[in-house]
Amino acid sequence: MTTEIRMQFDFDTGGLVETPDVIRDRDCTIDTPVKYGGPVESIYGQNVEIMPKIKGRTVTEHDRAHYMEKLLPLETYTKIIVLFSSGKDSLASLLHLLELGVPKEKIELWHHIIDRGSDKKMDHKVTIPYTEAVSKAFGIPLKYSWREGGFWSEVYRRGSTAPVRFEDEEGIQTVEPKAWHRSEELKEMMQQAELEDNLDLLEKCRKELDAIGYRMKFPAKGADLSTRYCSAYLKIMVGSTVIAHSASTKRNCKLLIISGERRGESNNRSRYNEIEKHGMNAEIKNNRTVHVWRSVIDWSLRDVWEKIRRFRINPNPVYAVGFNRCSCAGCLFNQPSHWLAVKELYGSGKDDIFQQFVDAEKELEFTLDHHVDLPTYVRDATSFVDRSNQRALEQVMNGEFRPDEVFVPEGQTWQFPSGAFRGSEGGPC
Ligand code: SF4
Repeated sequence: MTTEIRMQFDFDTGGLVETPDVIRDRDCTIDTPVKYGGPVESIYGQNVEIMPKIKGRTVTEHDRAHYMEKLLPLETYTKIIVLFSSGKDSLASLLHLLELGVPKEKIELWHHIIDRGSDKKMDHKVTIPYTEAVSKAFGIPLKYSWREGGFWSEVYRRGSTAPVRFEDEEGIQTVEPKAWHRSEELKEMMQQAELEDNLDLLEKCRKELDAIGYRMKFPAKGADLSTRYCSAYLKIMVGSTVIAHSASTKRNCKLLIISGERRGESNNRSRYNEIEKHGMNAEIKNNRTVHVWRSVIDWSLRDVWEKIRRFRINPNPVYAVGFNRCSCAGCLFNQPSHWLAVKELYGSGKDDIFQQFVDAEKELEFTLDHHVDLPTYVRDATSFVDRSNQRALEQVMNGEFRPDEVFVPEGQTWQFPSGAFRGSEGGPC
């Protein structure tokens, strides 16, 4: 089966480039024909080199530096790592790997936690329980990684970014950025200077601290990762740090990273290459091969749900209560209706994510939206929360999900969750 190609104006180069004719999430429905989500044959162990469905682009410098024509046969990799957010796309990627015959012992799920080490919340409560339940139900190891303090420590950052922590075979590891110690030292000196009313020292330390790093603002809504820093600092850089420092990945290995982006989610993603070298590929220096496979990149929403339906998996219950995507509950791309759903589900006490953003906007004097504050942004919207699935509602609100709930029991019908075909509005990350 081939994918059609059409020409599109490219904002990176100012020229026309080939762009695959993908089914946009916003146009995909329950009736969209299944193209890629159907059964596939096992190829593991048969020396099959996987080619991208669409030949990789070589338009940007990044494209050219990371270009690969094809993957190695799957059995060649020492470890296959699924970046498992707990959402539908990473779940479909995992199921696809299993269907291709990859043994479970070869797979690891890596999940980046977005709010660990902070009193304020950012993740859906059910994300960790669901991720753990999938890991247990399939018998596939799960490893967590996070930047200490998560999203909120980056938003309120003065000085160095926080250390990265991760689990590996030897326990929990910590990687401190170069400027971390000096940054902490300066903060202590500032406290002391304040006690002693030493304004000169206070000012000197503050200047040095702010020269190391200063945010005190939300990430920008946009594709540029230097300003939409949450994706870069909490996910991409965390993953790279784990690869560079974990005992089993730092050298002498061949890693395949499976990432669940799809072209149909956004214009930006429509230009990604299916196969490429990862930024941590270091074959000469460390004898470490790191390849990326966006195995579901050309799949439609319908394809993704079909794979999950065929395996009879209950997806993350946030979809059943109406969310169309599952990433940070307080994602900066949230539409007004997402925010109202977050408010309705978590709007009390220490987990009140909506109120935490409202308070932070006032404290930082910086709004999440480019034009208006959050209460104004959501003013005329209505929440999409669907309360018809009582168990899903409990799972989401209480943050609970058992391994025995991963598969739909025999005799029960698998149903599309209420958020299944609401497009990619409010995302992607
Ligand atoms: S899901 Fe949203 S808030 Fe979270 S890291 Fe991605 S872009 Fe940032």
